[in-house]
Amino acid sequence: MPLPEFLYHVPATLNEACQLMAQLGEDGRPLAGGTDLIVNMRKGLISPKNVVSLGRIEELNKIDHSGGLTRVGACLKVSDLVRSKPVSSRYNALRLGAGSLGSPLIRNLATIGGNLVTGRPAADLPPPLMALGARLLFRSVSGKREVPLQEFFHGPGLTAIGKDEILTEILLPEPPSNSGSGYIKLGVRKALEISIVNAASFISLDRESGKIRSARVVLGAVAPTPIRAWSAEKILIGEKPDEELFIKAGEAASEESKPIDDFRGSAGYRRDMVKILTQRSLHIAFDDLMSNTLERWDEKNDHAHCK
Ligand SMILES: Cc1cc2nc3c(=O)[nH]c(=O)nc-3n(C[C@H](O)[C@H](O)[C@H](O)COP(=O)(O)OP(=O)(O)OC[C@H]3O[C@@H](n4cnc5c(N)ncnc54)[C@H](O)[C@@H]3O)c2cc1C
Repeated sequence: MPLPEFLYHVPATLNEACQLMAQLGEDGRPLAGGTDLIVNMRKGLISPKNVVSLGRIEELNKIDHSGGLTRVGACLKVSDLVRSKPVSSRYNALRLGAGSLGSPLIRNLATIGGNLVTGRPAADLPPPLMALGARLLFRSVSGKREVPLQEFFHGPGLTAIGKDEILTEILLPEPPSNSGSGYIKLGVRKALEISIVNAASFISLDRESGKIRSARVVLGAVAPTPIRAWSAEKILIGEKPDEELFIKAGEAASEESKPIDDFRGSAGYRRDMVKILTQRSLHIAFDDLMSNTLERWDEKNDHAHCK
């Protein structure tokens, strides 16, 4: 189907974009990579009178790490996330989520902000970002607003973003030492596939006791929004990580999930897969934790040798 007619705006600055969004109200829609917006316009699902391109706004395309915080510009392409050093060295779950989104072509267009604002329950980036404790920064003519990602999703396609707001940055805290994260997705095919179920995990260990100090397990495609598997997290905290513990956490996550039947998989199949994927994401997080710890140990010993 051809695209419906619309006016195309290309602001050069964030201020200009905010002013446009305020003037246009319900009639304006921000455009990032277009892999959802343009597809939905072609299908005739939406037909905004005005499209506001965010592509030329430099500050939305940056990634910066300083003062214990990584600030990811909302228009950063998913392919840039996969290649980014601050991401791959600190946020394994996000690196894995970004690497499994769509195909190389889609990753070169799709942005991190677009993947969040669409509010798809099966999207690849919300679970890793939630597991990593992300917060979102919005701008409008009224000023700035910060929202924990955990509070952002309200239902399929429904989020806490205001009509005139632009998502500007995703803020990620520096992970503590002795921590790691993982992400895994199940689809029918390996590429170009929306998840049947996905799971992200984050764990940090207490250095003295070797027990899990904090844990976050997030599931996608098993509820109207990505959800925390609170009962699995409760089982993990205060225990030493091992196979048996991860199996118990997987079982708890499976009991807590409330998936639906659809053409991608039955509720029962999804529930079984939650059990397996939760376990696997915990193993990936633990392997990441071990390799981070070894890297730090190597760095420390290299310094000692140099002295
Ligand atoms: C063939 C194909 C395969 C796909 N496979 C996957 C997959 O495996 N996993 C997956 O998760 N997704 C997948 N997708 C979905 C899609 O690629 C992602 O959701 C993408 O990340 C959306 O980002 P975008 O930059 O293209 O957003 P756009 O399409 O530009 O925008 C999406 C929505 O967000 C709004 N928006 C965008 N940026 C901002 C901002 N900064 N502030 C305010 N509002 C904003 C837009 O107005 C629009 O409503 C696939 C899509 C296609 C076409």
